[in-house]
Amino acid sequence: MKTIGILTSGGDAPGMNAAIRAVVRSAIYYGCKVYGINRGYKGLLEEDLVEMNLSSVGDIIHRGGTILKSSRCEEFKTQEGRLKGVKVLKKYKIDCLVVIGGDGSFNGAQKLSELGFPAIGIPGTIDNDLAYTDYTIGFDTAMNTVADAISKIRDTSSSHERVNIVEVMGRHCGDLALYSGLAGGAETIIVPEVDFKVEDICNRLKTTQKRGKRHSIIVLAEGVGNANDLGKEIIKITGADLRVTVLGHVQRGGCPSVFDRILASRMGVRAVELLLDGKSAKVVGVKDNKIIDMDINEALSMTRSFDKETYEMAKILSI
Ligand code: ATP
Repeated sequence: MKTIGILTSGGDAPGMNAAIRAVVRSAIYYGCKVYGINRGYKGLLEEDLVEMNLSSVGDIIHRGGTILKSSRCEEFKTQEGRLKGVKVLKKYKIDCLVVIGGDGSFNGAQKLSELGFPAIGIPGTIDNDLAYTDYTIGFDTAMNTVADAISKIRDTSSSHERVNIVEVMGRHCGDLALYSGLAGGAETIIVPEVDFKVEDICNRLKTTQKRGKRHSIIVLAEGVGNANDLGKEIIKITGADLRVTVLGHVQRGGCPSVFDRILASRMGVRAVELLLDGKSAKVVGVKDNKIIDMDINEALSMTRSFDKETYEMAKILSI
């Protein structure tokens, strides 16, 4: 009988709970023992572990956040810290680890594998910034949250004939801005993957104003820069009545979408199957709606390709 450890690490994402549930339930189904490690790698180093059973993960599939809590842990980035982590895992007779998180968390899992400790990664981040997978857990929910916020801002923007800049998360990845912007009917979408000029945005505002349209939504990905700074520049050039909304952490919370719950369930089961097969240093992903797995190093070395086609389409539709 294998003993599996599970932790969530980095920024939390809706659907992480569904992934935890899938790992715990499938592991128990296959006759394994499971330890939940609280607060990511930090909790591992502090020996904050608890054995999980079927009911530990009851009533969580629909809840945002992570019941295991999450954190960032600088100590785990050191070899000394990781050796301490392996010692704790061995003390609890844990044979292998499932890490749910983003690329940073995967780096931790990869380094554990290098130390001979089997680890598998499940992508949990709202950023959708991992190249090897079409979707990360939490992205779909966050995208819907942002689209909903844009719709609400649009109401007031239209009533007051204002320009609104909505700053959305995603770190260096523009996916969240692009797809929520398209779904929310944003007039301008600014992402890190495509260069932009403030003058172009201002010219666009002037053109639409000439045809009588006085409100406009600009969706800005946080990876491009600060929405308030951009707002000041636009006001200076156009004199527009402009407001800025930084959506912030509202994007990370909330009830996970059906898509995220199902994705998390499928990925969680695959992670357990990989560990039972004796695999290590792998990450689980989804490609063309098929669950895949890949070597962590290969996955982390891949470069993301931006969906330029959809970006151009959004531009055409917001003419
Ligand atoms: P998100 O994309 O949501 O920010 P993330 O997993 O990328 O999630 P990070 O803060 O980059 O978030 O990483 C989470 C944790 O993983 C870090 O606090 C650290 O404990 C561990 N980690 C990150 N990079 C490494 C590394 N190179 N080696 C070992 N551990 C690492």
